[in-house]
Amino acid sequence: MSTEKTLSIIKPDATARNITGKINYMIEKSGLNIIAQKRIKLSKEVASRFYEVHKERPFFEDLVSFMVSGPVVVQVLQGENAVALYRRVMGATNPDDAEKGTIRKECALSIEANSVHGSDSVDNAKKEISFFFSETELYEG
Ligand code: GDP
Repeated sequence: MSTEKTLSIIKPDATARNITGKINYMIEKSGLNIIAQKRIKLSKEVASRFYEVHKERPFFEDLVSFMVSGPVVVQVLQGENAVALYRRVMGATNPDDAEKGTIRKECALSIEANSVHGSDSVDNAKKEISFFFSETELYEG
């Protein structure tokens, strides 16, 4: 067991429906601590850079347009095995495949508008956290 941090993003479909509190409740109920969060509007340039690994995929342009369509809440979550735990709490990418009780099953609208992002590895979590947050914004106490 190790204490990790992971990056979460509450996506525009969720901010539009005012369910950020519901999602935060589900996160906290899982035992993860929200140690930093801010509500921001992504630019096309920033969203494209964040999702650069997907730039060859057919849905890339749609994904970027969706991510800039409204505010997002970027968050740092901390806890035991936070990266894998949050992936379980989120559920499968496609809400149709997600398990009952997961954020995506309970909240997502579609495979694209799936309410949340979570880092998929410890290495990516480090990169994604530093993409949005500076050291001084992360208080671990
Ligand atoms: P994740 O790690 O579960 O978020 O999934 P991926 O890394 O594979 O995809 C990143 C994001 O792209 C997903 O969370 C969705 O918002 C979006 N996405 C994934 N697959 C599709 C797809 O087939 N069509 C569309 N329109 N969007 C997709």
